[in-house]
Amino acid sequence: MRTGPQASWRPGVPSVPSTPSSYLVFAIQADQCLRMCVFVCVCVCRQWEDAEIMVLLQVMYVDLDFTATFNIEPDVLHQFLFEIYRRYNNIPFHNFKHCFCVTQMMYGLIWLTDLRSKMDSIDLLIMLTSAICHDLDHTGYNNAYQINARTELALRYNDISPLENHHCAVAFEVLERTECNIFRNLSMDQFKRIREGIIKCILATDMTRHNEILNKFKSILPTFDFTSKEHRDVLMMILIKVSDISNEARPMEVAEPWLDCLLQEFFNQSDMEKLEGLPVTPFMDRDKVSKPSSQTGFIRFVLLPLFIELANLFPCLEMEKALERETQNRAHSDVTGKSKEAAGSRRESQTNAGPEAQRPHAQ
Ligand SMILES: [Zn+2]
Repeated sequence: MRTGPQASWRPGVPSVPSTPSSYLVFAIQADQCLRMCVFVCVCVCRQWEDAEIMVLLQVMYVDLDFTATFNIEPDVLHQFLFEIYRRYNNIPFHNFKHCFCVTQMMYGLIWLTDLRSKMDSIDLLIMLTSAICHDLDHTGYNNAYQINARTELALRYNDISPLENHHCAVAFEVLERTECNIFRNLSMDQFKRIREGIIKCILATDMTRHNEILNKFKSILPTFDFTSKEHRDVLMMILIKVSDISNEARPMEVAEPWLDCLLQEFFNQSDMEKLEGLPVTPFMDRDKVSKPSSQTGFIRFVLLPLFIELANLFPCLEMEKALERETQNRAHSDVTGKSKEAAGSRRESQTNAGPEAQRPHAQ
C-alpha cells in the first residue's frame, strides 16, 4: 500500500462510482471539488485512494479539453496514468499522493487565474503533465545525498540536478511506449514543443534554482506579456514551483500530516548519511531538528516572496493573505505547543533562497 497522510474525514468528497452511469455525476462532483480546493479548502489529496486519484487525474485532462483537443484516447490516458502511478515509489513524502497534490494545485491555479484565456492549450498541457511527472521514481534521498554518495544518478547527470533530470527522463521513457503516449496524435513540432516545455518545468523544481527563477520572474513582471514565449516559459516554471511547495500554504490540518511525512523522509536520509559517513544535512538530522518555528521561516522567506510575486500578476489569487493567516496560525500553534516538532523542515534540502530560509529561528 502506498504511503501518505491518512484522512480522518472526507468533507463533501464524492465516492468512486460503481456504475458507468454514475461516473458522470462523480466526475462533475469531483471536478467542482478539485477546482475549489486551492489554499483555503481542505485538499482532497489526503483522503483519496490511489484508484480514485487515477480517475481524478483523468477528469482533469477531460475537463481542460486536452482529450478532445489533442485526440488523447481514454485507454492511452489510462495506461499513461497507470504507468506514472507504478513509477512513484512507496516512500513517505515524494509518492503518488504528493504527485496528485501538486497536480491538483496546478489544476486549481489554471482555473483560478483563468489561464485558458491567456495561454494556449499546449502550454496548459505541458503544465499539468509536468506536475504529474515532476517527482517520478524519487528515491527519497535528495540531490545533496545523490552527489555526496556518488550515486548512479549523480554520475549519470554529472551532479547537475540529478533527481530532476531523472524524473524527466522517466517521464519520457513512459511516453516512448506507444500505448502510454498521450502525445502520439500530435505533430512532430507539437511534440517537440511539449518535450521542451516539460523538461523546462520539471528541471525548474530543483530548489537550488529558486532565486534564479524568482529573480527572472520579478524582472519581467513590470512588462509581462502573455504573447512572449520567454515570459510564458518563466511563468510556467513559477507555477510548477508554487504548486510543488504549496503544501504549507494549505490549512494547518492539511499541511501538518504532510510535514510529518517529509520529516520522516528527511530522517531516513540523515540516518543513512550517518551510517555511510557522509555529511549530514542539518535540517534533516533527527537529533537537531526540534524547532517548529522553521516552518514559519520557510513560509516567510521562501514561500511568501514567491507567492507575492505571482499574486502581482494575478491579483485574484490573494495568496499573501492566505499565507499570512497560515503563518500566524503556525506561530500561534508553536507558542501553545500544539505544533509538532518540525525544525528545519523544508520541502527540499538545497535552496539558495537566502540565509534567512535556512535559519531555524527565522521568525
Ligand atoms: Zn514535488
